[in-house]
Amino acid sequence: MRRKFAAGNWKMNGTGEALSELNELTNTYQSADIDIAICPPATLVDRASEAASGSAVAIGGQDCHANTSGAHTGDISADMLRDAGATYVIVGHSERREDHGESSDNVADKATAAYDAGLIAIVCIGESLDTRNAGDTLALIGEQLAESLPDSATGTNTVIAYEPIWAIGTGLTPTLDQIAEVHDFMRDTLAKRFGTEAADAFRLLYGGSVKPGNAAEIFATSNVDGALVGGASLKASDFSDIIDALA
Ligand code: 13P
Repeated sequence: MRRKFAAGNWKMNGTGEALSELNELTNTYQSADIDIAICPPATLVDRASEAASGSAVAIGGQDCHANTSGAHTGDISADMLRDAGATYVIVGHSERREDHGESSDNVADKATAAYDAGLIAIVCIGESLDTRNAGDTLALIGEQLAESLPDSATGTNTVIAYEPIWAIGTGLTPTLDQIAEVHDFMRDTLAKRFGTEAADAFRLLYGGSVKPGNAAEIFATSNVDGALVGGASLKASDFSDIIDALA
């Protein structure tokens, strides 16, 4: 049985003041039957990890470099995130792919770096509106899955997040049938590569305009094991409603 997972991605939002939202969450979820994570900006990972210590809320980074150290100004390694108290790291978010030209090969290297550091990688994939309108969504998802996941990926070291780019921060969401189609396809694709048993262990998250009002129906959708939440994870009250819809 896959453990449900609610992850919040704060993106480039939040200074020290935002830790009050995290404190509210950690007070509410001292223990939980599902996995919960907040991925704050890198500057807050250390403080957030300290604040969340002993609660059911884990902390994650939003990106890592594929190398462990070296001359990469402005980057941080998976080891550094781990050292700062992170359990997870998001890799391959569409905003990284777009803003920083990251390819799926880069993403696979970052995922491997995460494993080596003892972090769980949250690997993001998802189509643009043009791709969806052209009827190429499943082909693209298949390609991104094949290229972004290292051969060493397992349901223990990797979580996969399906985030249609056109649904991120727009208030638009795919229909439940469209979400089910992609999530079922991801499960089948994983089974072909890793075998049925190994494929069944991967948590598949949906991300893109998940809100308290639509969380329950999305969580009831085939092969949806949780959510990667952007905007609605910034407020503890909203994110709690989403967690409670999953738990
Ligand atoms: P929103 O929930 O703000 O649409 O963002 C989704 C996302 O990109 C999470 O990684």
